[in-house]
Amino acid sequence: MNARDLKSFAIAELQREFVLLGEPAFRAEQALEWAYRGVADFSQMTNLPKALRQKLSERFFVSTLSPKSVSDSSEIETARTVKFLFALEDGKEIETVLIPDFKSETQRRLTVCVSSQVGCAMACKFCATGYMGFTRNLTVGEIVGQVECAAKWARERWNQRITNVVFMGMGEPMLNYERVMEAAYILSAHRYPFQIGERRITLSTVGVVAGIDRLAESPLKINLAVSLHSAIEEKRRALMPIAREFSLAQLRRSLIAYYAKTKREIFIEYLLLDGVNDGEEDATALVKFARSVPSKINLIDYNPIANIDYRRSDEARKTRFREILRQAGLFASVRRSRGKDIDAACGQLATRSISKKTLKPV
Ligand code: SF4
Repeated sequence: MNARDLKSFAIAELQREFVLLGEPAFRAEQALEWAYRGVADFSQMTNLPKALRQKLSERFFVSTLSPKSVSDSSEIETARTVKFLFALEDGKEIETVLIPDFKSETQRRLTVCVSSQVGCAMACKFCATGYMGFTRNLTVGEIVGQVECAAKWARERWNQRITNVVFMGMGEPMLNYERVMEAAYILSAHRYPFQIGERRITLSTVGVVAGIDRLAESPLKINLAVSLHSAIEEKRRALMPIAREFSLAQLRRSLIAYYAKTKREIFIEYLLLDGVNDGEEDATALVKFARSVPSKINLIDYNPIANIDYRRSDEARKTRFREILRQAGLFASVRRSRGKDIDAACGQLATRSISKKTLKPV
């Protein structure tokens, strides 16, 4: 019998496997706790009966994700963005970015941006991953493993623990909802070693309304971010094919219902693309949308991607855009784009070798 990776199972699946082995279901999570604490040898899982440890060692193994490459950005000595490229068991590649924000000794935020899928079916026009197409969903272990690996790296290099996790890497998390939510549970629950508060975990969607509705009902109180990128229907449809499926009105309704249920503000993510969505009418449309939904706006500098014809907004347009928001009483933070020199934009590392000829939206 081929041994299977314990971490590749969702908890409910593993519980069924344990019951089939004639073991109580609760033992499954005990074994997973050991696995996520870095114990790969079943004989060391000392709160499991010896006979079970033996059965497990014959049927399962515990994987560890290790990076194929780690790129250090040379931008700022004390706050470097680090990008990890992982090769998975089946040879597929994903990427993860570690984003430090060390304002002072007491304010040290360290965020891991994790992938939820290999590739992505959403085909956003400004995103390198969108040109790769969708390959498969990641397992819970592959999602948590990215944080595990980044946490180890940060502990050894900076003596710093991970404070925040964002599901903003490759893939649309709402389309791998169960595994993403289970990963969020493992990352936040007290019985596992990560212990990242639920309110420090953010799931970012391009606006999959059905997923937002599900998240509103979830007992996990994680944050929701929505990549809006335009509050003008035609422009949004041109940038993000998902907008052809869910209109801005549908999205707005879903966000209002989400807020009514959770009382948690939504983060609106808005990538500023030069001459595309950074004009006055764009800012005015964003004001209208943001006023209808309890939210905070994050403007994001675009990281230019080789072979894709979008550019970062220039400073004058960006300032004017923010000014319109400010005059409307809306505060927008601007997220500095870091890691330009390490291809830290979503999907850039894994697609670096794809030539312009083969780069076309799927
Ligand atoms: S921006 Fe996100 S959802 Fe859109 S194609 Fe890229 S990875 Fe997929």
